[in-house]
Amino acid sequence: MKPFFTKRVVTTALIASVLGGGLLAFLTLRSVNAPGASAPDEIGSASHGPKRSVIGLSVEGRQIEAYTFGNGERHIAFVGGIHGGYEWNSVVLAYTFMDYLDANPNVIPAGLTITVIPSANPDGVHKITGKEGRFAITDVRTDVPEGEGRFNAHEVDLNRNFACKWKPESMWRGNVVSAGSAEFSEPESRAIRDFVLKSAPATVVFWHSQSDAVYASECEDGILPQTLDIMEAYSRAAGYPAVDSFDAYEITGDAEGWLASVGIPAITVELKTHETIEWEKNLAGIKALFGYFENRK
Ligand SMILES: [Zn+2]
Repeated sequence: MKPFFTKRVVTTALIASVLGGGLLAFLTLRSVNAPGASAPDEIGSASHGPKRSVIGLSVEGRQIEAYTFGNGERHIAFVGGIHGGYEWNSVVLAYTFMDYLDANPNVIPAGLTITVIPSANPDGVHKITGKEGRFAITDVRTDVPEGEGRFNAHEVDLNRNFACKWKPESMWRGNVVSAGSAEFSEPESRAIRDFVLKSAPATVVFWHSQSDAVYASECEDGILPQTLDIMEAYSRAAGYPAVDSFDAYEITGDAEGWLASVGIPAITVELKTHETIEWEKNLAGIKALFGYFENRK
C-alpha cells in the first residue's frame, strides 16, 4: 500500500473576542498532517479558507483532491495535471493559484465559487516526483525519458478516456496511446466526471503544457458559443494565442470535448514550456474569467 496523503482538518474555530477597545481575533483552520505525509500544506490560513474534498482515488489509491473557495451561486473549476508528471508544471500552477486565492480571498467575486483540482493524475506525478500530494520543483526528476508520467498507472492517457468520440486507441502527436478499455474506464476520469455532474460548473479550465495557446472545445455538435467567449477572454488577458479547433492530429475521448457534449464550456490552456508556470499571464487570464462571469446575469 502507498502511504496516502491524509491531511485532515481537525479544527475549525472562529473565535471572536473583545479585548479592551474591541479587537476581533480570528482563529481559523488548523491543519495537521498525518505521519508520513510528505508536504505540509497550510491551505486554509485565511479567514475564508478552502474546503478540501477527495473526489476519487487513482489506480494506485492516491487521493484526487478538490479545493473549493468562495460560496457564490456560479461554479467555475480549474484542473491541473491530467497529464501527470509529464506536465507537472500545470500542477504547480494550480497550487500557486490556490495559494493566491488563500491569501487574497477577496478577488473571488461574490457570485462565484471556485474549485481547483490541482493534480488529476497523481500516479503520473508520483512517477516523476516520488511524492504524495504537494511537491516542490526540486523534487522533479530530470533524468527521465520524454513523456514519462503522462499516463495513469494503467498506461492510459486520461485525456483520451472521456465519453466524446471515444475509441480504444487515440493519438498523442505521432504516437498511438491507450484510451482505456471503455469510456471512463479509469478512476481518475470518473472522478472528474462525477465532480462535474455533481457541481455543474459554468466552465472548466484545464491546464496543460506545452503548446502556448488557449483552445476551445467541441464534441459532435460543434463549439458552444460561450466557449468562444471564454477562450477569447482568457487568451486576450493572458497573451496566449486563441485556437478554435485543434487539428494537428485526431484526438478522441478528451475531457474538454466531453464537457462540450454535456453543455459545459471548457477550455484548454497550454503553458509555453514544460517547466514554467507563467503565473502573471495566467492570473490575468483567470481574472478575465472572473470578470466575464461576474458581469453575466
Ligand atoms: Zn497535456
